[in-house]
Amino acid sequence: MTMDSYYTCLEVSPGLFQIWEPAGVGCSLITGSRRALLIDTGYGFADLRSYINTLTDLPLTLINTHGHLDHAGGNYLFPQTAFLHPYERLVYDLYQEDKVTHVPYVEKKFRLGKISNPFPPDFDRDSYMEYKAVAFQDAADRLLFDLGERTVEVLYLPGHTRGSLALFDHLTGTLITGDNVGPSLWIMFDQSASLQEFSKRLAMIRDSLSIRQVLASHSPAPYPPRIIDYVLHAVSVCRPETSTIFVHPRHGYKALHHKEPVTDIPGLKTIHVVYPLRQP
Ligand SMILES: [Zn+2]
Repeated sequence: MTMDSYYTCLEVSPGLFQIWEPAGVGCSLITGSRRALLIDTGYGFADLRSYINTLTDLPLTLINTHGHLDHAGGNYLFPQTAFLHPYERLVYDLYQEDKVTHVPYVEKKFRLGKISNPFPPDFDRDSYMEYKAVAFQDAADRLLFDLGERTVEVLYLPGHTRGSLALFDHLTGTLITGDNVGPSLWIMFDQSASLQEFSKRLAMIRDSLSIRQVLASHSPAPYPPRIIDYVLHAVSVCRPETSTIFVHPRHGYKALHHKEPVTDIPGLKTIHVVYPLRQP
């Protein structure tokens, strides 16, 4: 298997690529005239760095939407110091430790046929399982990356994790939302923000930018901006009486699960919100 058959790549808009790995997560590459920005690094099971080199030879800046293993797990493959919200250093460490439950969970999904093989032939499991020390630098809210005739802006979006970031590509009007706006919002973790804090901030972002599309980490293709309104509505109607109990597949934590029907977004029938049994 070559890297070309491991990763698939969709050029969502000119110079904006969604790179998809078989475990079911994507990272985004944005190229300007002078620099490129890589948003997230996936699990890091395969050599993402070599694959990126086939797409661009521009100097690369790295940023993570948050510290979870499926978003920052491949940072160790790169020499760059990645930008990250300061809170997420803790999340990165927790999820490096959590590989002992996370990797068997991915293996189980593969065995059950829910995903195609997430491991390349040369995957060294023992070495992957080691804690990967990487350097980070703090990403400030509203930080602008000047890629040359293209700027990408950092927006704090506490929700799925307290230090989650969204990125806005001003050239194409694309909001890259990590795990915060998409088919499912898990806001159940100890490191999550409250539903209220999340919706206030998301509404502010929606109202202050001309968003033309939304790119979520666990979807290979973008959504129309009205997905934001669906997520905000879903969050506003989350009630224990209309939700079911959700059990986290890796840890057995219990939370509430709200299902919001979607009527006018192709390929998306439901938005799931998983939130704490007791609201903070
Ligand atoms: Zn996540």
